[in-house]
Amino acid sequence: MNLSLEKTMMPLLDIEQRQSSFCEVAIGYSLEDAVLEANRCLECKHKPCVEACPVHIDIPKFIHEIKEKNYEEAYQVILNDSMLPAVCGRVCPQESQCEKTCVRGIKGESVAIGRLERFVADYHYDNHPSGCEFEIKENHHKIAIVGSGPAGLSCACQLLKLGYDITIFEALHTPGGVLVYGIPEFRLPKAIVQKEIDQLLDHGVKLKTNTVIGKTLYLEDLFNDGYEAVFIGTGAGLPQFLNIPGETLNGVYSANEFLTRVNLMKAYDKSYHTPIYKGQTVSVVGGGNVAMDAARAALRLGAKKVHIIYRRSMEELPARKEEIEHAIEENIDFNILTNPVEILGDEKGFVKSMKCLKMKLGEPDASGRRRPIPIKDSLFEMTTDVVIIAVGTTPNPMISQTASDLKTNEKGCIITKDESGLTTKAYVYAGGDAVTGAATVIEAMGAGKKSALAIHELLS
Ligand code: FAD
Ligand code: SF4
Repeated sequence: MNLSLEKTMMPLLDIEQRQSSFCEVAIGYSLEDAVLEANRCLECKHKPCVEACPVHIDIPKFIHEIKEKNYEEAYQVILNDSMLPAVCGRVCPQESQCEKTCVRGIKGESVAIGRLERFVADYHYDNHPSGCEFEIKENHHKIAIVGSGPAGLSCACQLLKLGYDITIFEALHTPGGVLVYGIPEFRLPKAIVQKEIDQLLDHGVKLKTNTVIGKTLYLEDLFNDGYEAVFIGTGAGLPQFLNIPGETLNGVYSANEFLTRVNLMKAYDKSYHTPIYKGQTVSVVGGGNVAMDAARAALRLGAKKVHIIYRRSMEELPARKEEIEHAIEENIDFNILTNPVEILGDEKGFVKSMKCLKMKLGEPDASGRRRPIPIKDSLFEMTTDVVIIAVGTTPNPMISQTASDLKTNEKGCIITKDESGLTTKAYVYAGGDAVTGAATVIEAMGAGKKSALAIHELLS
């Protein structure tokens, strides 16, 4: 038993190396680190961490296998409930899920469940590159999945194991959703995402890319083609803006567009000639993971100064703690309690500065966070040549506008009738960000898994 009150440290890339490189920042545990950390786990009988995991991975069981140095067995335990352990081990907000309830966290730090999950997945890919095996008894029922993000992939995996004939329809040319177009290489290498997706494709899941449901094909076409049920996991990719003057100037991006150019269109790789307006001073408006990713990507593209502009205080920043810490280490400048009111341009229509108000915090609002209130006479102007807006996204209305009976709420999220994700249209289920609005990878995976089990119950 390791009685240390602190997690085993995660080795990190040097700060200097991070300034210009998109290499992964968190390097990963060695075998020794993993066994040391696994020995902090008490293997609690009541398993609070399992209950708090949206896909209910048997956490003490896989950690036990690490203690015994049975790393491949540990991988198989995780695989029973999650097909994306290398992804989740890297990007899941464990601190607000499994690790939040960990008994070791009562006195000291919780067990580093996420880091151990990542270790197990990386060990598997390094040592068993031919992939994993699971038994499939084909039942020849055809199911269509729309969207290849975590929700769609998790639904596909669960249905595949139950023997269904699965086709995923994806609008983009590459599968993975936000995992490939949103989260940058330095947090989640794309080769890792591809490895986890390949496991599904190798087991017979079909993938049709460049197919936009609601445009290339309608939802009804899928039923006419013999699909017996459809799962919609189309995410929330429609960016919101601030609705302030100057947002149409050259040099203003939505974070989605900026990160898509960096990640999916590979602007980070000099051998690709992806057009991207980089700028010397970049201001990112927002305080979530998306804002941190955009700021840290801008820094790596060569910006001299990168500002985060956030209207509440450091305590309210919604981004993962680890991402905020890494951003601070990398010299990202946090302009908190600051709210932009206008973006100003030069005579050629390019951004030159931004007017902002200073804010103070009032009483908590509906979100439970303290409401930002403008401070009188606090208007000031800051020089900037790029502004990236990262203040949230909503679901794209393409499917709901073209499918009869599929109802959405006032935010454009697909309405589901119950936990299974059944929509207002018969035989159509939905889950992930398309239902909840922007949320997390593991929540989207949990929703995909629940819908898969409900579809199985319906068809059997
Ligand atoms: P998505 O991942 O958005 O996938 C939807 C897929 O559907 C996309 O591939 C899209 O192209 C496709 N699609 C859309 N419309 C159609 C259509 N009409 N026809 C066919 N295909 C369609 N979460 C975390 O847990 N941790 C993090 O660190 C984290 N960081 C993030 C950083 C960024 C920059 C962003 C944008 C999000 C981040 N998130 C993070 C949130 C997380 O990525 C999402 O909650 C999760 O990806 C949602 O999964 P999803 O499957 O519902 O949707
Ligand atoms: Fe181990 Fe923490 Fe889960 Fe207990 S709650 S089994 S200590 S990871």
